[in-house]
Amino acid sequence: MSLEQRKTVLITGASRGIGSEIARRFALAGYRVALNYNTSEQQARELADLLERQLGVCAGERVLPVRADVADRQQVERMFDEAEVHFGGVDVLVNNAGIAQQKLFTDLTDDDWRRMFAVHVDGAFYCSRRALQGMIQRHSGKIINVSSMWGQIGGSCEGHFSAAKAAVIGMTRALAKEVGPSGIQVNCVAPGVIDTEMNGALSAETLEQLCEETPLGMLGTCRDIAEAVFFLADSRSDFITGQVLGVNGGMVIG
Ligand code: NAP
Repeated sequence: MSLEQRKTVLITGASRGIGSEIARRFALAGYRVALNYNTSEQQARELADLLERQLGVCAGERVLPVRADVADRQQVERMFDEAEVHFGGVDVLVNNAGIAQQKLFTDLTDDDWRRMFAVHVDGAFYCSRRALQGMIQRHSGKIINVSSMWGQIGGSCEGHFSAAKAAVIGMTRALAKEVGPSGIQVNCVAPGVIDTEMNGALSAETLEQLCEETPLGMLGTCRDIAEAVFFLADSRSDFITGQVLGVNGGMVIG
């Protein structure tokens, strides 16, 4: 990618897990990366350092760690301001930040429910609305939302997570129709079970059972998701919008 062509991606929840692998994929492909974190500042800074060492560039030249709780509109606005001052407009937004919680539906508190929606749905809404200001002006841009297969088929003891991830799919489809005429693509990746800290609360037996239920007989990796997200940001997918790309080993088909 030449200097003039170099694009900027903002990835939420890029300090760990899937988001950090997405950040690595874009950085190594030549993008400028605004790497969002909320609580894991040290991990975000270590990842930025590592990537810049690999790229042989100075601190802040290609990777910028930016803190924001995506559930907080003001923090999101400040994060975009910071990224734009540093790198210019955001060409690609990846709404990846997420939390997980397993609980019986009848045990969910109001706060459990609200926080799940605040991070996944409000977060994607605040970030997308802010990113669209520049994208609409430039008549180009890509938004990729990370949902979940549980948002497609529902997961037992994950009622609030499944509902929030289904909302992300609904938002993806509606927004794709609305901003398609402005030259912007909006798509969604719906991971199956991916080997990250998010599944740390699941027992070895549960993970083994999920593996067995997966036609390909294995858990997915962060790299599987990063490649799918990267494809949806790339010019190879310019005629694809409003879609949900399942990356789930065959667990959900269609
Ligand atoms: P993870 O390893 O637990 O990492 C979660 C990331 O989200 C961290 O970087 C965390 O940042 C960030 N985050 C959480 N709350 C945030 C907030 N309020 N504001 C900003 N960042 C926040 O999770 P993961 O497995 O990589 O999951 C990434 C995405 O994939 C999530 O949307 C998740 O729902 C989705 N997904 C995962 C799986 C799976 O099996 N792992 C399956 C389906 C979908 P800090 O640590 O800095 O706070």
